[in-house]
Amino acid sequence: MRCASMGDVPYFDGHCDTVSECAHQHRSLGENGGHLDLARLGRFRKAAQVFAIFANAARFPEGTLFAECQKQHAVFLAELAKNAGLAVQCRTGADIAGANAAGKVAALLSVEGAELLDCDPARLETAAAWGVKLVNITWNHVNALSGTNVEQPDRGLTDRGRAFAGEAARLGILLDVSHLSDPGFWDLAELGLGPIVASHSNARALCGHPRNLTDDMFKAVRDSGGAAGFNLCTEFVGGACSLDDGVRHIDHFMELDGAKTVALGGDWDGCGLSFGWHGVQDLPALWNALADRGYDEGTLEDIFFNNWLRVLGGAA
Ligand SMILES: [Zn+2]
Repeated sequence: MRCASMGDVPYFDGHCDTVSECAHQHRSLGENGGHLDLARLGRFRKAAQVFAIFANAARFPEGTLFAECQKQHAVFLAELAKNAGLAVQCRTGADIAGANAAGKVAALLSVEGAELLDCDPARLETAAAWGVKLVNITWNHVNALSGTNVEQPDRGLTDRGRAFAGEAARLGILLDVSHLSDPGFWDLAELGLGPIVASHSNARALCGHPRNLTDDMFKAVRDSGGAAGFNLCTEFVGGACSLDDGVRHIDHFMELDGAKTVALGGDWDGCGLSFGWHGVQDLPALWNALADRGYDEGTLEDIFFNNWLRVLGGAA
């Protein structure tokens, strides 16, 4: 069924860079002119957002990234404290249900790039204590754990990468393969550590960018019990295309038995949005585009909320 407004639509998104924007541009998380803020998320029927701590390692002197990670974590906490009426940090499915029942946005934490944790398995204890749910093994730059989809793309996980992944799994932190090299992806899949997540990646069959998942990768994510978030970045959707063209990424993954795997991963505040969109307020158009293609209510609820809830809602 088509929706009339944000208030009809549930929202659970796996990736945004809004916290690093808040830290660097001194923006408020409560209300800002970017792609999303807590006030706008609060207009959905219920809302949950994974907020990434992110920094481009090339712009930071050696040895300062963990300090930056701590700084952004402090910004995340301070912004939630300032907006306590709008949102609350959540670690479990029960937390998320409680936040939503109280009319608040459920805020979850991720770290985009293990270099922010010094690629040190010991730092994962700190991340787990912060309630971090997802860690991307790499961002775009190669690190001590693996090559990436754009730097040393033929290099897979190092021994340290395997140790890091194992420790994350032990602590209940899921590994996120968005940005990882293809060999790194398969090395991780082979370890069989639990659900593999691609928080913000589309279908490579439709847009050949290496940031996107091949069909076999998607199936491996699916079979692991993970999820793949639909990325709205123009570069990964496939250029200046219409919403009808863009949703073919979702159609494609659905044809690969992806009904319990496809989710949202907008890359908000981290990219130029497709379809002339300005932010999360435009998402009801995606719901309607899918409804017009015949997706039933239950499937839409899964894509827009339940699939991430199942993957991320487990006890921390
Ligand atoms: Zn990213």
